[in-house]
Amino acid sequence: MFREAIERMAPYTPGEQPRPGQRLIKLNTNENPYPPSPRVRRAIIDSANAAQRLYPPPRSDAFVAAASSLYKIPRGMILAGNGSDELLAMLFRAALGPGDVVAYAMPTYSLYDTLAEIQEARVLAIPLGENYAQPLEALGREQAKLTIVCSPNSPCGTLAPAAELDALARRLEGRLLAIDEAYVDFAESNALHLARRHPNVVVMRTLSKSFSLAGMRLGLLFANPAIIESLLKVKDSYNLNRTAIAAGAAALADAAWMRRNVERVQKTRAQSAIRLRALGFEVPESSSNFLLARMPGRDMAPLASALRRRGILVRHFPKSVFRDALRISVGTPAEMTALFAAMSPLVPKIRKSTPKTDGRDD
Ligand code: PMP
Repeated sequence: MFREAIERMAPYTPGEQPRPGQRLIKLNTNENPYPPSPRVRRAIIDSANAAQRLYPPPRSDAFVAAASSLYKIPRGMILAGNGSDELLAMLFRAALGPGDVVAYAMPTYSLYDTLAEIQEARVLAIPLGENYAQPLEALGREQAKLTIVCSPNSPCGTLAPAAELDALARRLEGRLLAIDEAYVDFAESNALHLARRHPNVVVMRTLSKSFSLAGMRLGLLFANPAIIESLLKVKDSYNLNRTAIAAGAAALADAAWMRRNVERVQKTRAQSAIRLRALGFEVPESSSNFLLARMPGRDMAPLASALRRRGILVRHFPKSVFRDALRISVGTPAEMTALFAAMSPLVPKIRKSTPKTDGRDD
């Protein structure tokens, strides 16, 4: 009943979400362990009014205005999305037809593969370089129709230097470079200014992580007005609901709240990295709100399952070159203490019982 490409493809697999009432320590989908600003709660309650009878503003005006004033970028360069996943979907739909080439690092955010399959686009997946560095030189050589750099990258947390992204944007002149900055508030620097500097650069953000609003589904895309105009053609007319628009505007108006939570996460991240390394894991320096804990060559599926049985969710990617790793979201200090209490006795057992493989996909 469906297009061959759809019949053939495997669906995107999101991380496990607990059922209502299920008590789990959730370190598997990089949510923020702290609540959003109290202003968000007020905005959500205030939005439950008669205006819900009406469709929302198609361009999410109040949310875009708040983004414009926080990031000092004109409104015509901003597009609001129902999560940045929707913005990514719009980008793929508008840019790629069957056979068009999309290039990105491997591994990276696996939704890009799913979106490419839907479009029947051809994927050029370039392995990460030494020390988990993004293969920016190689991406520049490929000259794909659409190039995506996830920075900080998932699942390893490494940041692509803005100066190198600037050079890549120049090399890809006339072709789209999308920089997925979902986690960038947890990093020391970002590349938002490149959306102003280059007519081919798109920068994407989300309120799901640093602003603690994964449940509201709020994303932002920054680009040249000509790019925004093209993306608007594939946008669902009323892609954000009234409550989300109000919540997003309130969250952006209280960026100080977000920064305080980011600082707490950064502190816990540093302490957790030290503890993971002490347990024998290889842990790349993370600029995000998660840590990749790796035991090169050893499948970490048994450790993920053992933690799951103890009520702790972490992410394992069975089909990835990093199946010898766990991606662990940074939780509260108490959650991390519970993680280490569960993990410490398990790690030596796993090391003994898990055969070493070459750590690569077949
Ligand atoms: N980009 C990356 C790299 C992500 O990890 C995520 C979250 N899974 C997203 C984009 C999408 O975030 P959201 O749709 O919640 O805004």
